[in-house]
Amino acid sequence: IWANIKMGPPDPILGINEAFKKDSHPLKVNLGVGAFRDDNGKPKVLDCVRKAEKIISEKNLDKEYIPIVGLPQFNSEALKLAYGENSSALKEDRVAVTQTLSGTGALRIGGAFIERFLGKDTTVYVPGPTWGNHISVFKDCGLQPKEYRYYDKKTNGLDIAGLLEDLSSAKPGSVALLHGCAHNPTGVDPTFEQWKQILEVCKKNSIIPFFDVAYQGFASGDTNFDAQSLRLFVDSGVSIMLSQSFAKNMGLYGERVGTFSVVCASSEEKDRVLSQFKILIRPIYSSPPVNGARIAAEVLSNPELNKLWLTEVKGMADRIISMRSLLRKHLEEDCKSSLSWKHITDQIGMFCFTGISPEAVDRLKDEFHIYLTRNGRISMAGITTKNVRYVAESFHEVTK
Ligand code: PMP
Repeated sequence: IWANIKMGPPDPILGINEAFKKDSHPLKVNLGVGAFRDDNGKPKVLDCVRKAEKIISEKNLDKEYIPIVGLPQFNSEALKLAYGENSSALKEDRVAVTQTLSGTGALRIGGAFIERFLGKDTTVYVPGPTWGNHISVFKDCGLQPKEYRYYDKKTNGLDIAGLLEDLSSAKPGSVALLHGCAHNPTGVDPTFEQWKQILEVCKKNSIIPFFDVAYQGFASGDTNFDAQSLRLFVDSGVSIMLSQSFAKNMGLYGERVGTFSVVCASSEEKDRVLSQFKILIRPIYSSPPVNGARIAAEVLSNPELNKLWLTEVKGMADRIISMRSLLRKHLEEDCKSSLSWKHITDQIGMFCFTGISPEAVDRLKDEFHIYLTRNGRISMAGITTKNVRYVAESFHEVTK
């Protein structure tokens, strides 16, 4: 029956990992991975997570199904983290929330919600470029993703004029996917003043903002600072949607912990929206997994663990920020590159858009055993104090 099924292409990012594994060169470097690595290139489990696991295991809890929309304590803690303790939307009890299978699951439930209640013809605007899976998720939800201008190749910065123009000429009622912080793949975020301009355009043209917050705390080291774009919109009374992930900031990648939420106009509206989340989710996976949500709930609600977590998330962000400075310094001061590498330290979060051409990316792989996606994106987490000099020298070789 399946005789006519064609072989699908491999995932572009997972393909890089395969090629990296096969390479036996001692200096090889993987800059494709989208997960944090310590300065020895090793994955990291946070101490706060280990401690939370111990507390949970000592409670000898059962493994019964949890509600369709997830663990109530996790949901309320996750919302406080995103919207802020003093959020009027939370105080007025008008945020509908469901636990999801990390950020991807949140986007998928969000896409299904849009398709069902805003309609199939809804255009979902995504930044050009965006995380590749955004486009696949929205297409598979039966929606029409379309790009708005975001990245300016000439400046390696934000094309704010293009962005505002595209969102103001979009059809009213369209959705705009906004990366709340640490834009993937470019590392270019709007300034707070630019967020205000984006908010005005959304309001004026009735665009529905859908925030994707996958790096809260991981970008600047401060969970409140990284949520300021989202909170600006919510506090101004706009009804937004939010996808939230705990993969990066709590290192819970494989536990699949996240939320999808919708800010409603009233508590009564919230109840209706929430009832529809349940109807959407039940036939897909019935209810979400319990383990990761218990861990995140413990870390967020236990004052001691919460404090430890904030220190650890800042530690991860700081390591990345210091690798940006070192990489730029080696390129400019040691290699004496004639190009500007200022964007490396201007950009934020896990990823950096280097501006290196696809041909130079191929040379990095073939001649220097350095692996990255052909769009020139590097994961800063793959850079360590041990390999940064080699990476800088190799970048210089292929760009001079
Ligand atoms: N959104 C963005 C922008 C991301 O970079 C990622 C992770 N690469 C996600 C969502 C979702 O990741 P996860 O499903 O692991 O939470």
